[in-house]
Amino acid sequence: MAIELPSPPKIGMVSLGCPKNLVDSERILTKLRSDGYGLSPDYAGADVVLVNTCGFLDSAKEESLEAIGEAIAENGRVIVTGCMGDEAEAIRARFPKVLAITGAHQYEAVVGAVHEAAPVPPSPYIDLVPEAGLKLTPRHYSYLKISEGCNHRCSFCIIPSIRGDLVSRRPDAILREAEKLVAAGTRELLVISQDTSAYGLDLRHKSFPLKGGGEVRAHMTDLARELGKLGAWVRLHYVYPYPHVDHVIPLMAEGVITPYLDIPFQHASPSVLKAMKRPANEARVLERIAGWRAICPDIAIRSTFVVGFPGETEEDFRYLLDWLDEAQLDRVGAFRFEPVAGAPANDLPGAVPKEVKEERYARIMDKCAAISAAKLQAKVGRTLDVIVDAVDLEEGGATGRSKADAPEIDGEVQLRDAGHLSPGDIVAVEIEDADEHDLFGVPVGASR
Ligand code: SF4
Repeated sequence: MAIELPSPPKIGMVSLGCPKNLVDSERILTKLRSDGYGLSPDYAGADVVLVNTCGFLDSAKEESLEAIGEAIAENGRVIVTGCMGDEAEAIRARFPKVLAITGAHQYEAVVGAVHEAAPVPPSPYIDLVPEAGLKLTPRHYSYLKISEGCNHRCSFCIIPSIRGDLVSRRPDAILREAEKLVAAGTRELLVISQDTSAYGLDLRHKSFPLKGGGEVRAHMTDLARELGKLGAWVRLHYVYPYPHVDHVIPLMAEGVITPYLDIPFQHASPSVLKAMKRPANEARVLERIAGWRAICPDIAIRSTFVVGFPGETEEDFRYLLDWLDEAQLDRVGAFRFEPVAGAPANDLPGAVPKEVKEERYARIMDKCAAISAAKLQAKVGRTLDVIVDAVDLEEGGATGRSKADAPEIDGEVQLRDAGHLSPGDIVAVEIEDADEHDLFGVPVGASR
């Protein structure tokens, strides 16, 4: 006699904001799936919709509120979680029908709210979760969150008030998760946190035993070295230029981890950095970058900058442009300063008018595009390892990334004659052309 299984309730998920939030969404979905829930790709099929909100900027909050409104209009049964969970009253005032509101990292609370809103009918047969959990990224790359919260108090940022001080995960637990991801097909690990270089400070950089013997220290360098042994690309994001960052550069030169550093400098002018209260703000950064390049010439440095911060003068801005000329960063993203409700920077004197912000934004983007174009042009004729993200079978082409490119935020490598490849393949590619942001090439064999 065939057994008829009760169909499990289905969860819809809208995940907003940064990769850290994405990882939270993945964890929540993983837990719910292991509890027997199904997932719905659309509003219509969902018994309840989770909206994981972002509250980093006022514009992000507005986007979160719009997403909640859309989910209520389309489905009606909505649970809100994430950074905006701390503003429950404001959400309830606008959307009284929301079923429950929980804050960032309150995994148990949000899972409990789902169980209450859409209980799973009891069944001994529903227990089908992959070992590595459920992912919102493609199979071949995964974000790996190593800590939560931040000990700094940058004047434009409210993240510490939402997520609290630094809490590092145990390095052995991180490595276990990374091993599972690699076993499930991940070929690129993207290490994320609010401040990767501070990893392990709260654990006093203690050592923890490893499964196969030996131990690992809760420290960025040691963790990077262990992750590098797993055979995947390991990319470090959100690193601040503390002195000990110098120690990960030899690991990049030796090929243990990917020669890539994402350092959100945000500015270069000492007075603006001081007003921003940025960590590891020191004058010798240009010398340090030159030293890193001497050890690892292929290192790609990516950064973000804010223009129009309160008090930023034309002189400060020109200082930043001159600094960029010297620093020759590989990848740069720029933002116009936006006051975030609750951030101390809002009370600083010297607000920069909107049109000046726009003009500075255009200038910094032009500057960085010119630097990027020249740096990419210098790669023409070289053979680089490229990880394939997508294949276009009709056209016989593919899109991938070199070690200098993180997914979503950096450039791409467009491949011709690549229809035989699959996402996740890592191949050697001869670079034939370049523009301001992307490279163009042809696969010439297996990766080296
Ligand atoms: S380092 Fe600064 S910008 Fe980054 S999370 Fe901490 S306080 Fe915010």
